[in-house]
Amino acid sequence: MDLLVRDADLVLLDPRRPPLRGASVLIEGGVVVEAGRGVEAPRGVDVLEAKGRAVVPGLVNMHTHSVQAAMRGLLDGLPLAAWLRESDRLYGALGGEEAWAAAVLFYADSLLCGATSVLDMERDVEAAARAAADTGIRLYAAYAMVDTVETGRSGLERLWSVEEELSRARSLAGRRWRGRVELLYGPVGYPSSSFDLMEAAAAEARERGLRVHIHLAETPVNDRLARLQGYRGEYEELEARGVLGPWLSAAHGVHLDGYALAGLAKYGATLVHCPSSNAKLGNGVAPAWEALRGGVNVALGTDGPASGDSASMLWEMRAASLIQRAALSSPRPISAAEALAMATVNAGRALGRRLGALRPGWAGDLVVLDLGDPSLQPVDSLVENLVFSASCRAVEAVVVGGEVVVEGGRLARAGALQQAYRVLRDARERLVGERDAAQG
Ligand SMILES: [Zn+2]
Repeated sequence: MDLLVRDADLVLLDPRRPPLRGASVLIEGGVVVEAGRGVEAPRGVDVLEAKGRAVVPGLVNMHTHSVQAAMRGLLDGLPLAAWLRESDRLYGALGGEEAWAAAVLFYADSLLCGATSVLDMERDVEAAARAAADTGIRLYAAYAMVDTVETGRSGLERLWSVEEELSRARSLAGRRWRGRVELLYGPVGYPSSSFDLMEAAAAEARERGLRVHIHLAETPVNDRLARLQGYRGEYEELEARGVLGPWLSAAHGVHLDGYALAGLAKYGATLVHCPSSNAKLGNGVAPAWEALRGGVNVALGTDGPASGDSASMLWEMRAASLIQRAALSSPRPISAAEALAMATVNAGRALGRRLGALRPGWAGDLVVLDLGDPSLQPVDSLVENLVFSASCRAVEAVVVGGEVVVEGGRLARAGALQQAYRVLRDARERLVGERDAAQG
């Protein structure tokens, strides 16, 4: 896809550099080929005029579960164990069409708030991939691999063998998808995926050149359970089994200690910080600042809408900075530029892709912001405003791989969203009934 985004007042090529004034961005074949002043459109290339606008790299949401968009607002106030049990049950009540509709809802909301890529950990990769093609978002689909179910008090029961689950992942890895979809292996984390499954999944993903995405240390419970079951700790077991490396991104890490943080830095693994979800479920505050200072690559995720609710990466950047400052009683931890790097270039590094900056050869994923929106005024502190005050309302256009997927603040492919609303209205009645039956 070819496109010239012309003559923007401000163009932020990289979150850590000052924006250029009066510059254009040329995208050819889906990637940025040139960015700067005086760049002209070759003959036949579409032009998006950006006078009075700012252009910034598209934001990357590194952790969610889009199906939970169907459950948004249903499970507030539950402690994590009950929340997991209930959300699992509601998951079971949803079919493929409903998973597609929930993903369309979440991806549309993401795009309208400036996220151009999303890492979605789901079992129904097919539904997610269809929703991505139907909205235009770039999807990193982490196939949610499980082989164990918890029965009662720390009783663990095997659902199926490691090999059975690996063969499902393998068949997905062999698929060709419509649109911009890339598969990751996503063993969900101990205990729903056994350590044997995580070890085997990581080894096979590495052989295939695929990335691995897991949950890690969201609460202290799983580490305790691992030790009770005779393993080393939750982190230590993964380290001993060779799961850690630049291929790995791990969501949450709220309860990681200094040894584990040093390990993530040493192995080049990524911590995906999910501050809103951690706060809402009362799981605590992740040591994101300590991780960054210790050289860990830290990216950012909203988590699923049954815990994090919002798909807005603008809010997530704000939460990442504010919560660390509140917890550490200091105005220094996580500057606006650091929060923006977490939501852009750090995610690119986690995925091993040229993603999150508008450099030549990098993905042509960008957001055009209306500088006339009051939430971006005054316009001279673009990065600070983007992180601390920007409203999704200021997102005027969104470009993914050179394709305009949001224009005039509206989804270019609005038909899928209307269809998704219809599907979800019916699903919702059933889910509310399910929840109330369980509580009654
Ligand atoms: Zn999650």
